[in-house]
Amino acid sequence: MRKKPKIGIAGGLLTANEEILAGAFRTYVNHNYVRALEKAGAVPVLLPVLADPDDLPAQLEGLDGLLVPGGADIDPVFYGEQPRPRLGATCPASDRCTLALIADADAAGLPILGICRGAQAINVAFGGTLYQDQESEIPGCLKHVQQSARQQPSHAVTLAKGSFLARIFGAAAQVNSFHHQSVKQLAPGFAVTARADDGVVEGIERCGAQKNFVCGVQFHPEMMAEADCVPMQTLFDRFVSLCAGEGGH
Ligand code: MN
Repeated sequence: MRKKPKIGIAGGLLTANEEILAGAFRTYVNHNYVRALEKAGAVPVLLPVLADPDDLPAQLEGLDGLLVPGGADIDPVFYGEQPRPRLGATCPASDRCTLALIADADAAGLPILGICRGAQAINVAFGGTLYQDQESEIPGCLKHVQQSARQQPSHAVTLAKGSFLARIFGAAAQVNSFHHQSVKQLAPGFAVTARADDGVVEGIERCGAQKNFVCGVQFHPEMMAEADCVPMQTLFDRFVSLCAGEGGH
């Protein structure tokens, strides 16, 4: 049996609200990411937010890949913008850590998969910008914060031919949607490989098969995989295969 790849999941910070701990931070990750990676044959490892970015390379030692999950809005200071009226709450300490973690994982040659905030963080880490609130900034914007159950698809995406995502989903797919932000200016060296009908970026991939794999999706495959949606679980399966060093992307 092959050795299972060990994949780090960038942890988030959650504020406790029990009386005795009120205001205390907790490190967390939604468990459906853990489940999807385990089902794909990986050993997931939770990576807490660290105060000192110099420690991140050590945190990544021994890992075969990095998953950057969903979370809060990224502070626009990290892409050189002032806050617009509908920006949500941000946590710059967490952002600083996530962005440095992505850069360090890339320098270490690890495959990286970003989901929702993770996809946005990849775009920012590699030099792109975000819509702070796409509904007020993109004319004709569709409903991207669905009120239906999390595992239920709500809008279509079109996949770019020949891309990693198109090899999983085909030319089009139905995805769930829980985001009010998305990629504005794409990071250099990346391609948009999934897009909604209103033009909103739903997937990005780093160009060039010679470089380590870096991909972000704006939808939540870990939620749809919970409901046994086969292509959504396949996305994790393929990512884990790349982390195991099996095949190109
Ligand atoms: Mn969407």
